Amino acid sequence: MTSVVRVEPLTTARALRGPFDYARPDGAQVGTVLEVPFGHQTLRAVVTELADRSEHDLAQPIRVLPDRVPPDLVDLALWMAREYCSTPARGLGLVLPPRGVKERTELWAHAARAPEEGERLTDNQRALLATLPRPTGKDLQALRRLEGRGLVEIAPRGVRRAPEHVAVGTRREPPALNADQAAALRRIEGARPGERLLLHGITGSGKTEVYLRAAATTLAEGRAVLVLVPEIGLTPQMVSRVVERFGDTVAVLHSQLSPGERYDEWRRLRSGEARVCVGPRSAVFAPMADLGLVVVDEEHDGSYKHEGDPRYDARLVAEHRARAHGAVLVCGSATPRPESLATLTRIRLDRRADGAPLPPVEVVDLTEAGGLLHRRTHEALVDARKAIVLLNRRGWSNFLTCRSCGHVWQCPQCDVALVLHRHDGLLACHHCGHRERIPQACTACGSVSIARHGTGTERLEAELAALDRPVFRLDAATADAARTLAAFQAAPRAVLVGTQLVAKGHDFPDVDLGVVVDADSTLRFPDFRAEERTFALVTQLAGRAGRGGRGRVLVQTIDPDAPAIAFAAQHDSDGFLRGELERRRALRYPPFSTLIRIVCSSPDAGVPLAAAQAVKDHLDGVPALGPAPLFRLRGRERAQVVVKAPDRAPAIAAVDAAVRAVAGGREHKRASFSVDVDPQ
Ligand code: ADP
Ligand code: ZN
Ligand code: ZN
Repeated sequence: MTSVVRVEPLTTARALRGPFDYARPDGAQVGTVLEVPFGHQTLRAVVTELADRSEHDLAQPIRVLPDRVPPDLVDLALWMAREYCSTPARGLGLVLPPRGVKERTELWAHAARAPEEGERLTDNQRALLATLPRPTGKDLQALRRLEGRGLVEIAPRGVRRAPEHVAVGTRREPPALNADQAAALRRIEGARPGERLLLHGITGSGKTEVYLRAAATTLAEGRAVLVLVPEIGLTPQMVSRVVERFGDTVAVLHSQLSPGERYDEWRRLRSGEARVCVGPRSAVFAPMADLGLVVVDEEHDGSYKHEGDPRYDARLVAEHRARAHGAVLVCGSATPRPESLATLTRIRLDRRADGAPLPPVEVVDLTEAGGLLHRRTHEALVDARKAIVLLNRRGWSNFLTCRSCGHVWQCPQCDVALVLHRHDGLLACHHCGHRERIPQACTACGSVSIARHGTGTERLEAELAALDRPVFRLDAATADAARTLAAFQAAPRAVLVGTQLVAKGHDFPDVDLGVVVDADSTLRFPDFRAEERTFALVTQLAGRAGRGGRGRVLVQTIDPDAPAIAFAAQHDSDGFLRGELERRRALRYPPFSTLIRIVCSSPDAGVPLAAAQAVKDHLDGVPALGPAPLFRLRGRERAQVVVKAPDRAPAIAAVDAAVRAVAGGREHKRASFSVDVDPQ
């Protein structure tokens, strides 16, 4: 008899970790949520284990709550807590059922018995009986009278609050697969349980169609399918294609759902009524039993990394989940990460589904341009019908300075320059959200001569207005991305200008020009992924152009020979990946090592650096860089240590122990700590 439950309390206190033993209430299983007495408090807690005996005196839980976490998600949460140096409570917080929502019901009337011969009924009553079963609606009173006579039964029934599925584009019949797609599908269908595949297919090669067919096969085998996409608002086409193909068996999970919608989608997945789930990174926690296929679309996309605690990477979580279910994992991209190439088995799609060639890419040397746009770029824009223009900087200009005294307008909370947003009439910090009015005069010397430096999407949008056609802007300030994309799609001639958001998987058939205004901007980040990001951005943008055969791409750069740009211009992802993996091997970057970043912060100067040094001292010889100061953010001074270790598990364990030791001690109690395993 298992008479003991081991539980993890759901608390934000980092130090409070279970498992703690309690007497097992009737019916409690792994995943059951309880209310338990804990010292003087009452805490919610999740059962993570059942046991036969305990060495402690057992307290009785106060209540058994109706929520229940599927046991495989309990395991997943605990694994995440370890893998990302977080706490069980925070891991479990990600997999709990939506709370505080009730099922929505509607009264339905069913026929209870057939009317007897000669039974007196009005025409209206006969008509009502002929329409059953149905919602009572405005006929409730009439139906109640029939209920009184035993003819009708009225009972509540659950109603689904169905999310709206944003749709761009028109409905299409599924095409017959081409030979490459058919071969890819056969490879996926023949995969071993738990096998991990990389579908490396150029933009427009028909990867989505392959996922959809593989999903159909999995469903036919009676197993469930999880499809992860980058942000839903930006890739509504993927969602609508899945919903179009599989209808009501699809549940959509994303952050824009109302609590009621989320609850209903969760319940439909939990009950097995929905057997396909599509959503962004958090959908990796969908409560599904017996997954047979897990798809990660656009696997290179940075949005798969979660920036809260635990800082999980949905791609790694998906892999872990697929393995636990014996499901096949398929990661797809035109620009896969070097890590994925090194660890997954590759399937290729080297031709566009419509047979059109990839558009020619021309690299334009910006050093010989007078302004932001090279003359050739300008001419191409004049000639183009539909153009997409990428500039990876939001706002009007990057920073303001005083022409008299050199004063730079900075965020009061962060050590960064404020960006001018002319449209909203303010200066904004892109790190903390601080906003202030546009200055009329210098706060330091009173001069009214203020210089604006650099160009962002807003200013470019204004410049492109001279082209005499609609200009749509898509960046983090755009309220409704799906609507902007739909408007661009519908216009016969138009320009879409924006940040990297314009390069995400949109499938517009008639874009005949792609422009990257400043391809170096992402290369200049001091980050080992800068090359990979730049290559992906240029290639993805190029992939938006020339569907249907026409089109060209112009890439402006001050460094035409940078490998990331040169390989992207040749559409040579193999060449890029080969070089990039060599570089990473030489420098011992992932996948040849694991990086873990520990950031210490405090409002007080000096505290973070000392705390970071203490963490490093506790690392027991695990190789680490730093401590190094970081720029002040949200009013907090910061410093970091970066672990770069060949063996993942021991490095994670060492970091966890070091941070616990330093954070738990008295000496550094003014510092906060955040750990990021596989930082982006
Ligand atoms: P990817 O995801 O690889 O970028 P998509 O799946 O979006 O490519 O396919 C690009 C376009 O080609 C879509 O409009 C899709 O409907 C179409 N397509 C896909 N497969 C085929 C096929 N076998 N025959 C014709 N058109 C196809
Ligand atoms: Zn001044
Ligand atoms: Zn700020």
